[in-house]
Amino acid sequence: MLLKNKVALITGGAGRNGLGFATARMMAAQGARVVILDLARAEPAAAATLLGEGHLGVVADVTDKASCDAAAAEILQALGRIDILVNNAGITQPRKTLDITGADYDAVLDVSLRGTLYMSQAVLPAMREQQSGAIVCISSVSAQRGGGILGGPHYSAAKAGVLGLARAMAREYGKDNVRINCVTPGLIATDINKGLIPDDKLQGILDGIPLNRIGEPNDVAGCVVFLASDLAKYLTGVTLDVNGGMLI
Ligand code: NAD
Repeated sequence: MLLKNKVALITGGAGRNGLGFATARMMAAQGARVVILDLARAEPAAAATLLGEGHLGVVADVTDKASCDAAAAEILQALGRIDILVNNAGITQPRKTLDITGADYDAVLDVSLRGTLYMSQAVLPAMREQQSGAIVCISSVSAQRGGGILGGPHYSAAKAGVLGLARAMAREYGKDNVRINCVTPGLIATDINKGLIPDDKLQGILDGIPLNRIGEPNDVAGCVVFLASDLAKYLTGVTLDVNGGMLI
């Protein structure tokens, strides 16, 4: 069991087909006590019951600092510690540069980038106090290839921002034994991109993926579990590219 006795908090983890829920399931299987945080409409408590006994669901909006702080306080009150944070909540919008409105920009950056900052701020004092912790931030290959497969340039910008934020926090919190790393998924079959890939574009996309398939949520979850576990205890500030070789 890689995560025995760890308390793991996963944002945006309630979507049953999503990366967050796959990570939650794998972390629970590795012995962690899992807290799924998500918007009320995603019903995080119902998702947590699917993991078995002892896991929690918490309603919060990662774009709202007070909501993040209240969620962390609730978890610390209930479980006494937070060992792992996975900053997974994110939204995307297929847009061309000239079509991005101010509201689009705010919506996409607020969830991925502001949300990553606010949730990290909410748990870091406890992790510093414990002198241990692991934060894994979900960025995207869109941050690296200078353009999304499905998301717009503002999504690429938000996810590139996550890489910079994570590295800066990793530098700051290393002395407190808090490790902060990123995963950059390629194209993974989840609800975020459902219906966005036209049939006539699929082969072209597959031609750009050396492993010749779209990823599954567990492909990402396994890497998140690794980074959160003690197997990765000398890794901080790194980015794992989980994209089937898309950037080779
Ligand atoms: P998803 O839509 O299933 O998951 C996103 C989750 O975030 C949902 O459960 C949603 O309710 C939650 N969420 C949205 N706004 C929120 C808010 N303000 N506060 C709290 N929760 C909020 O999609 P997914 O594909 O599982 O995406 C998970 C992460 O992976 C996202 O950050 C996404 O950008 C990233 N990602 C996905 C892919 C892919 O191909 N699926 C590729 C690269 C990166």
